[in-house]
Amino acid sequence: MTNKKLPNKIMFSIIAPVFNEVESLPEFYQQVKKVMNSTRASWELLLIDDGSTDGSTDLMRKLAAKDKHVRAIIFARNFGHQIAVTAGMDYSVGNAVVIIDADLQDPPEVILELIEKWKEGNQVVYAVRRKREGESWFKVFTASLFYRVIHRITDVNIPLDTGDFRLVDLHVVDVMRTMRERHRFLRGMSAWVGFKQIGVEYDRKERFAGKTKYPFKKMLKLALNAVTSFSYFPLQLATIFGFLCAGLSILAIPMVAILRLSNQEAFFGQATTLVAVLFLGGVQLIFLGVLGEYVGRIYDEAKGRPLYVLSEDPLKE
Ligand code: UDP
Ligand code: MG
Repeated sequence: MTNKKLPNKIMFSIIAPVFNEVESLPEFYQQVKKVMNSTRASWELLLIDDGSTDGSTDLMRKLAAKDKHVRAIIFARNFGHQIAVTAGMDYSVGNAVVIIDADLQDPPEVILELIEKWKEGNQVVYAVRRKREGESWFKVFTASLFYRVIHRITDVNIPLDTGDFRLVDLHVVDVMRTMRERHRFLRGMSAWVGFKQIGVEYDRKERFAGKTKYPFKKMLKLALNAVTSFSYFPLQLATIFGFLCAGLSILAIPMVAILRLSNQEAFFGQATTLVAVLFLGGVQLIFLGVLGEYVGRIYDEAKGRPLYVLSEDPLKE
């Protein structure tokens, strides 16, 4: 990795993915600057531009030119939030890395609490959402359901109601840098690594400006990535369902024979056959789709493309 060449002189790296956040960015920068200067430690702010089209890119360039603390990493197109954070980790040089949203939903002052827990010897300090302000009931409900399903069906202990807002120690970052999977679920990955982990509660704020950049489609994609990256449960469901159907059929065979022999005609006719065939056909197609989700991901991995493409070299001064 490129950053290996750089000395780790910096204590904290703040990583913020940015996708069309031109209205929030100046305030976000000011707040981060204030909080980080109060720590009296050295710090850097890595802004990753995930293909913005609203002028965020130019603003980031300006901030980077004005303030040595700020570095701008600019993607050639929109690669997604999880990939943007990954790029931030790749280029960060701090002894601890803080992942935070640029829309001020994660309040920068919470970073101080994360740092406290890190100093106590925890390698991952994740921020747990106590309350969520200004989000639709649909988002809160689906998010809550999602966290619980993931918690239940995966083998990794992924904490409930926890987003990507967290502090990660360099040891963990170093391990995560070697994990180059394409369909990423960073919260799962940072839990998978192990080490000493602890949560800090906080109230998630309303967006400072603009609308969410995570429409339902992107949320669904993230959920699918989370499930397929950390669990075979959807595949195993096919086996369970197969046994169930086969078991029921074995019971049904003698029953049908007996009914037939006793001249009962209740079970016969086209409708029964059609319903049975269509139902099983539907179930088979569903599981074919589930299988496809995994196969598609294998195909993506096999292609071995880079995770992201930068439009300019972030190391050039
Ligand atoms: N983001 C990004 N790429 C995307 C979508 C979002 O870099 O494709 C950034 C966005 O600018 C913000 C963070 O990721 O800083 C979280 O996104 P958002 O606030 O839209 O998600 P929500 O908080 O609504 O779940
Ligand atoms: Mg947000």
